[in-house]
Amino acid sequence: MKVLLAEDSRSNRMLIKAYVEEAGHQVVTVDDGQQAVDSFTIERPDLVIMDVTMPVKDGIEAAKEIRALTDSENDWVPIIFLSAMTEPEDIARGIDAGGDDYLTKPIDATVLNAKLRAMQRIAEMRQKLHKANRKLKMIAVKDGLTSLFNRRYFDEIMMKECKRASRTKTPLALVVCDIDQFKLYNDNYGHQGGDDCLKCIALAMQSAINRPGDIVARYGGEEFAIILPETNSAGAQVVAESLRTMVESMAIPHAYSSVADYVTLSLGVACMQPVPADTPEQALRRLIETADQGLYKAKEQGRNRVAIG
Ligand code: GH3
Ligand code: MG
Ligand code: MG
Ligand code: MG
Repeated sequence: MKVLLAEDSRSNRMLIKAYVEEAGHQVVTVDDGQQAVDSFTIERPDLVIMDVTMPVKDGIEAAKEIRALTDSENDWVPIIFLSAMTEPEDIARGIDAGGDDYLTKPIDATVLNAKLRAMQRIAEMRQKLHKANRKLKMIAVKDGLTSLFNRRYFDEIMMKECKRASRTKTPLALVVCDIDQFKLYNDNYGHQGGDDCLKCIALAMQSAINRPGDIVARYGGEEFAIILPETNSAGAQVVAESLRTMVESMAIPHAYSSVADYVTLSLGVACMQPVPADTPEQALRRLIETADQGLYKAKEQGRNRVAIG
C-alpha cells in the first residue's frame, strides 16, 4: 500500500515511517493537517495514518476534509488516527470525523502492523465489491441474447437524450429496425437458427454504429432501435440506409422470404426538432410514434427499405 503519514512530531514520524516501511509499504510523510489534505489529493494513498494534534489544521479537521473529497464510496481510503489522548470521547470524535480506527501513543509496532493488515483486508474487499457491482450494472442494462443494450436502458437513455436535446436545442434522431418476415425464418430454420441470426445482426449493427453517444438497443423480439444524438433527419436516413445495405450484404439465407433470398431489414426514421411547448415526455412519445410510423410505411411499401415517419 501507499501510506500517507501525517505527524508533526519528528521522532514519532521517523519511528512510524520505519515501522510501516518494514511492513512492506511505501510511505509519504507530511507534518500538518493542511499538508495531509493537499498531499492526499496529489498522492491518492491507499491508507492514511493521521496524528490528531497537529499545527495549522488538526487531524480531525483534515480527516473531515479528506472524507469530503472522497464522497464516492468507491474511492474510500481508510484513516487511522494516532493520539496520546485516550478518553472515550476523543476516540468517538475521531471516528465521527471519518476515521476508521484509533491508535494510542506510544505506538506499538505489532499493533500498528495488525491494524495495517486489517485495513488492507477491508480495502481489498471493497475493491472486489466495487468490481462485482460494476459487472452487475453492466448485466442489468444488457440484453441476454444479443448483448446489446436492453429495452429498459433504451427507455432511460431516450428520456435523458430528449431532455438534453430540448436543453441544447439540438436534433435527436431515432431509427427503428425490424427484420422482415422473421416468423417465417423461425419456421424454416428453427428457433435456435432464429436466435443465431438475431445475434449475428446485432453484432454487425453494434460495430456499424460507432459515433460516441450513439446507442444500439434491442427494442423487442426482432426489433432494434438506434438512438442518434445531435443527428438530423438526413443524417439518420444515411445511417438507416447503411444498416439496411449492411444486412443485405451479409446475405444470410432466408429461403422462405418473399422479399429476397436473404434476410432483410425494414427501417423507420424520425427526428425530433425541439418544440418549446412540448414536455420531454411528449417529445419522446412523438419521436417513437413517428419512427414506428416510418417502419410501418417501409413494410407497406414492400420491406427491405427505409422510410421517414
Ligand atoms: P414482418 O416482415 O412484417 O416484420 O414479419 P415478421 O414475421 O418478422 O413479423 P412479426 O412481428 O409478426 O414476427 C416477429 C417474429 O420474430 C415472431 C417470432 O417468431 C420472432 N422472434 C421474436 N423474438 C425472437 C427471439 O428472441 N428469437 C427468435 N428466434 N425469434 C424471435
Ligand atoms: Mg501531534
Ligand atoms: Mg416485429
Ligand atoms: Mg419482423
